[in-house]
Amino acid sequence: MADKKKQSGKPCFIPCQNDPEAIYQRLKAGNKRYRKGRLKCLAKKRDRIESQRPYAVVLSCADSRVIPEQIFDTGPGELFVARVAGNIANTATIASIEYAVHVLGTRFIVVLGHEACGAVETAKKHTREPFEHSAPLGYNLDVLLAQIRPAIVSAGACASMRTLIEENARLNAIQLTERSQIIDKDKVILYYAYYTLGGKVEFTEVCFNAGSPV
Ligand SMILES: [Zn+2]
Repeated sequence: MADKKKQSGKPCFIPCQNDPEAIYQRLKAGNKRYRKGRLKCLAKKRDRIESQRPYAVVLSCADSRVIPEQIFDTGPGELFVARVAGNIANTATIASIEYAVHVLGTRFIVVLGHEACGAVETAKKHTREPFEHSAPLGYNLDVLLAQIRPAIVSAGACASMRTLIEENARLNAIQLTERSQIIDKDKVILYYAYYTLGGKVEFTEVCFNAGSPV
């Protein structure tokens, strides 16, 4: 008979890919453990995993303080993570997520913005009304910041950094579906989220009404 005291030996809960409510609760519970410093799944020793069926995709910033597997207390095979400065939908991140959706069967997608995002701050700094780029930073960085600029246009230049960061996550979440024939808004569950450097993730679902995001 299993020893009830050996709670740490319990297997980590792995929700099914087609159960978005269980996935949502799993991510929230993992984040709660992270905030309380009670990680149990991140470093758990695993048997060899021959194949992967990740239950969630996370598109996050490349910021060194934002580590999705740690934030949600997850181990190998659980999250399919794409990271790029500003958590933007670009060709590489869209293609990566298309693979997760089409090949691996993942349907639950979170675009994770975060407090004090340097990419969004830089985009704001280099954007002046009427929302033109103010100073070329070189082709690559200009292209990246151009993908953030719509959030500044949408929220307004006077908006708080938090509002800009959340709007950037929301718009790039929508872009994932609008720029892909595989990431179908009718077949995926799409969230954007805001991570505070204190450790908390706040989720908001992207809802579509008659085909348009609301
Ligand atoms: Zn960032």
